Amino acid sequence: MYEAVIGLEVHAQLKTQTKAFCGCMTGFGKEANTQACPVCLGFPGSLPVLNEKALEYGIKVGLALHCQIQKFTKFDRKNYFYPDLPKGYQISQYGLPLALQGFLTIELKEKKKSIGIRRAHLEEDAGKLIHQEGCSLVDYNRAGIPLLEIVSEPDISSPEEAYEYLTSLKSILKYLEVCDCDMEKGSLRCDANISLRKHGVQELGTKAELKNLNSFKAVRDSLTYEIKRQTESLEAQKPILQETRLWDEVAGKTVSMRSKEEAMDYRYFPEPDLPPLTIQDSVIKALRDSLPELPEALKKRFVSDYGLSAYDAGILAAEKAFAKFFEDTVKFYPKAKIVCNWCIGPLSYELNARNSSIESLLFTPQALSSLLQFVEEGKLNNLAAKEVLAQMCNSGKPVEVIVKEKDLLQVSDTQELEGIVDRVIAENAKSVGDYTSGKGNAFMFLVGQVMKASKGKANPKVAQDVLREKLKVKNP
Ligand code: ADP
Ligand code: MG
Ligand code: ZN
Repeated sequence: MYEAVIGLEVHAQLKTQTKAFCGCMTGFGKEANTQACPVCLGFPGSLPVLNEKALEYGIKVGLALHCQIQKFTKFDRKNYFYPDLPKGYQISQYGLPLALQGFLTIELKEKKKSIGIRRAHLEEDAGKLIHQEGCSLVDYNRAGIPLLEIVSEPDISSPEEAYEYLTSLKSILKYLEVCDCDMEKGSLRCDANISLRKHGVQELGTKAELKNLNSFKAVRDSLTYEIKRQTESLEAQKPILQETRLWDEVAGKTVSMRSKEEAMDYRYFPEPDLPPLTIQDSVIKALRDSLPELPEALKKRFVSDYGLSAYDAGILAAEKAFAKFFEDTVKFYPKAKIVCNWCIGPLSYELNARNSSIESLLFTPQALSSLLQFVEEGKLNNLAAKEVLAQMCNSGKPVEVIVKEKDLLQVSDTQELEGIVDRVIAENAKSVGDYTSGKGNAFMFLVGQVMKASKGKANPKVAQDVLREKLKVKNP
């Protein structure tokens, strides 16, 4: 009966070495208040100077999101009082933002969908409050770090689409190398706006803004909850209030934080200490030319260059470093489909199990290629190769060394296998009987026993051949 209307506001911390308007460093996890100066602490008489890198990064994101980069842009002061904001205002771009009217394409099960980007603008981060028993502490290391706020149009229609939007956006930001996108460290933050309307109605309903969303999952879950809450409210003829709500992860629900009446008036006015910016076409062009191949394009290329399915290509291209690892491996072992299967299968499995990323891998694409070569030459069966891969992830040792240490070399030698098969047949009279009386399952059981007796090293195909022959002799 109702459809959800969702718009997301994402704050991406730009990965510059120094802060947005001063020379303070931006490193994460440093001792509190060791990265702060009169400018970012707002001492009287100090003057901000724009970090050119932050502007450059902002323009790059704008371009990657197909926005129109504004040739004339300026900064404003957003005034409010809060202890994490030493100046009493945040420098932001209100009236004339850096980028307008772009879009981001997301991929859904059956179709692609384009989500409008309303605007992207630069601003600065606030400090961090740390609440303790009886007192609160404040760390200004983060105050003044450049942020890019990316605001979508209310084009998103479900929690799943919101999740996809964030996944695609993160992928782009990481490809551009402008943001770490680590939600746990706060380098990517998201507020979600949601309203409902009856199907077919154009007009937007009253929205709630959801905050305190610490993961993509929290965004999806809170939106799912909010759809249910708003639906129930509308069905009971109770109007939706325009308000800001907090997601309570533990309780699995949103709670009201403040209503429209309590909303702050920020008294925006132009920042007098920063001159407006005129951005030259040549600058925009140079940045456009410098953009790397982005996930969508890379995915298409993987399909056409390597004959991969769109699904496989999509998984590989989602993460730049992962895509590169795949492509570098193919240079050494040019069977793309096999490399792809190992990357999105066993390799991803090992990375997930260790909660680690491809960047911190202890071995090179060339090392993976030699593992695949071992398999191709029949020196390792698949099971043993997976074991070697796990060891490579643990120690980074070369394939040959692990194979020797763990004694994993595949046994394809018929004579050697005959001995094992004889033993298995002798020890499993019942299954052999089952097999001869026509129970097909018994064969696979016996194969399993041979694999086990060989400690997983038997070449499964040769083992089956030998076993079949031996059983034939027993029961011609
Ligand atoms: P605010 O002034 O409260 O920040 P904006 O109009 O600037 O609201 O929009 C902020 C975000 O909320 C945008 O992503 C926009 O797409 C989304 N949005 C605006 N109105 C609605 C609505 N009625 N329902 C859902 N999302 C909305
Ligand atoms: Mg807003
Ligand atoms: Zn500073």
